[in-house]
Amino acid sequence: MKEDFPKNEVEFDRRFFTDQACLEYLFQLRWPDGFVCPQCGHTRYWRSARRLYLCRQCEHQQSVTAGTIFHGTKKPLRVWFKALWWFSTRKSSVNAVSLQELLGLGSYQTAWRWLQKLRTCTIFPDREKLSGNIEADEFYLGGERSGKRGRGADHKCKVAVAIERKGRKLGRLRMQVVDRCSADELIPFTTNNIATGSIITTDGWKGYCGLEAAGYVHKKILQTKADDKDSVLPGVHLITSLVKRVILGTFQGRFEEQYLQRLLDEYVFRFNRRTTKSVGKRFWRIMQQAVASAPLTNKGLVLTPARCLASA
Ligand SMILES: [Zn+2]
Repeated sequence: MKEDFPKNEVEFDRRFFTDQACLEYLFQLRWPDGFVCPQCGHTRYWRSARRLYLCRQCEHQQSVTAGTIFHGTKKPLRVWFKALWWFSTRKSSVNAVSLQELLGLGSYQTAWRWLQKLRTCTIFPDREKLSGNIEADEFYLGGERSGKRGRGADHKCKVAVAIERKGRKLGRLRMQVVDRCSADELIPFTTNNIATGSIITTDGWKGYCGLEAAGYVHKKILQTKADDKDSVLPGVHLITSLVKRVILGTFQGRFEEQYLQRLLDEYVFRFNRRTTKSVGKRFWRIMQQAVASAPLTNKGLVLTPARCLASA
């Protein structure tokens, strides 16, 4: 697909000033090779109402926003576009209060729902697996009760993490909420996110015992008490502290367990593009995903009332 995006905010504001301009952009993303009727495959159409395209052969009505995150929205598309631009061009994680202020949305709930939808656009199904030298580990978020610590602490949210090492530099990142830090969750996390043949460094935890059998070179670093954990797996430990800082800073130390994965997805999106010079390109990627995403209904968004507000 031909790259087509505004290079900066001034260009963005000039280009997406009207809903018509937004609609044409969505049309381009959806049908880069021209309109194709989903019913009969015909390629000629009439434009009817605002967001509707009518097949000239079978008269099937196709809305350009159907099946996208904009599905059924009553808000002008240019307001959505502004939200997408803002979301995709920020350097660090964002919260619903700032989105509400930016767009002048009437309620916090609306801003929160929009933000959930935007976060679902940060995962690209065609993304390449991590490869080369990788550090893998898990970390914990939340949980105020004292008692069991470390991997047995079952009241905490557990997150599996893997990051590429390029010499002293860090490469791309992946994070996944897991129920247990056992091999039956850690090995699938690895095979879903890391190319076989990669060299994976972990600590001595038994959950990683199956890595060799799964097709990886496994480097195990056995810790002694005197070891500084940061010097053993410095990459993942840096990420752990950065994520905790985001939760403390952007979310005042609170997050809802059932939405934690989306927060992490957003973090990974920003982290993996931290060196991308073009802010517009990030917008373009998010927009492609917004058009390809299945719409989240409001019902699907609010899974259950917050079970627990965990603290980092
Ligand atoms: Zn048709």
